[in-house]
Amino acid sequence: MPAHFRVSSLIPNGLVVDSVMQVDEMLVVTARAGIEVATCPLCRSPSRRAHSRYVRQVSDLPCSGRSVCLRVVTRRFCCEAPHCRRRIFAERFDEAVLLVRSRRTSRLDCIVHHLGLALGGRPGASLAKRLMLPVSNDTVLRVVRARARPRTDPLNVVGIDDWAFRRNHSYGTIVCDLERRRIVTLLPDREMATVEAWLAGHPDIRVLSRDRGSGYGEAASKALPCVIQVADRWHLMENASSAFLSAVRKSMRPIRAAIGATTINPELLTCAERLQYDGYLRREETIAKILALAKDGTAIKQIVRKTGHSRNRVRQVLRGDRGDVFRTRQSSLDACLPLLDAQWASGCRNAARLWRQLKSDGFRGSQRVVSEWATRRRRAEKASDQQLQKVPSARTIARLMTTARDHMSKADTVIIAAIEAGVPTLVAARTLTDRFHMMVRKRTEADLVPWIAAASQSLIASFATGITKDIAAVRAALVQPWSNGQTEGQITKLKLVKRQMYGRAKIDLLQARLIGAT
Ligand SMILES: [Zn+2]
Repeated sequence: MPAHFRVSSLIPNGLVVDSVMQVDEMLVVTARAGIEVATCPLCRSPSRRAHSRYVRQVSDLPCSGRSVCLRVVTRRFCCEAPHCRRRIFAERFDEAVLLVRSRRTSRLDCIVHHLGLALGGRPGASLAKRLMLPVSNDTVLRVVRARARPRTDPLNVVGIDDWAFRRNHSYGTIVCDLERRRIVTLLPDREMATVEAWLAGHPDIRVLSRDRGSGYGEAASKALPCVIQVADRWHLMENASSAFLSAVRKSMRPIRAAIGATTINPELLTCAERLQYDGYLRREETIAKILALAKDGTAIKQIVRKTGHSRNRVRQVLRGDRGDVFRTRQSSLDACLPLLDAQWASGCRNAARLWRQLKSDGFRGSQRVVSEWATRRRRAEKASDQQLQKVPSARTIARLMTTARDHMSKADTVIIAAIEAGVPTLVAARTLTDRFHMMVRKRTEADLVPWIAAASQSLIASFATGITKDIAAVRAALVQPWSNGQTEGQITKLKLVKRQMYGRAKIDLLQARLIGAT
């Protein structure tokens, strides 16, 4: 039912409008409390005896594009309780309306707080100006700081990591509540004592996820000996990869010898071809496995867990576009490579004849595919020794032997084939690294002890020693669902807020903005 509009409904509840004036572009609203009785702040007894009045000027939310100045006529009362020390007191308003000594109504304060959380001081203030909210940038920050409330939820599972105040210069520590996906606190440094003291104050933490290497693990074992520490899975994978890289660095001498001694011989080319063919078989097997699982109705998440392939890869296979991930060049030929190879080895160099032979064997591609293959093959055989002797960097070799294995050019394949034939210890190290990655992806905890036993005899023995030293946390990483990926995400958010404030924000302000926002 339509009701008559009252001017008092424009201003906060509990206040009654006496008059409204327009001064320039500003609305000046004079108002007073709607009730006759006030309560003494000291003895809580009610009083009706007004002593005097004064006017408080506060800002309120804008109205129709005009800023609003609220003139609140505030009464002073005499306290009538006989033994109260307070003779006269000013009336107070509801906290949801107007705080004691505040220059803004609570609802305006709340908006300013959220502007500050989202934008920071200066940008917050300039947007506020456009919204006809009269606040300065200092005020925005003051409100953000004043309204920051520490979290009181019980903490069970936390992730801890460091973040850069200034890169390579000073670092802080971030603690996240992994269950509620929130930042819990920012600590001013990454000293063990600081972290230890903070952890000691939170004895209800059950699980702590952290990276390896930094002092967080040690601090946690000192402060909370019963807590389950979880090594971060991403860091574990990364550590394994860099262990392989240093294995390659250690093997550069035999690698140079292997590559230097290489002349182009048919055997090596066969070997290179073999590598590519192996890759092809591996890819086919993967696709078949993923498709079979999907056919059984397994969810993508489960397939990722079971096969250990990345989510992206699984999705691409299921979507049917294998081209992006799996090399399709020569794909029609891949299956015939062994046959083609045998023919080539027996001296048949004529592309047309090779094609006819393949065709009678069921090959459905055109002659062009075969003749291009023959050209490439001939060119590879002619590749000068000089070109081959250019030894790639350790990083490149490590990459070619691992992640780029399925996307190698012919020249790279020849080099890697030479290395694999000449430096078998490196192949062993690669296999162990793969096995470790697989173990972390599939979370096969049972494989951990056998893996350590095998790896301690290899080129990545020092990595295995590190794993042994931290075995409880590594095992927890394979068993527990928690990981620090989320914490990394929160650090990204932290960096964004830090940059928004031109990197000048002190830690309490960062804390207020990040924790207030969630
Ligand atoms: Zn009193």
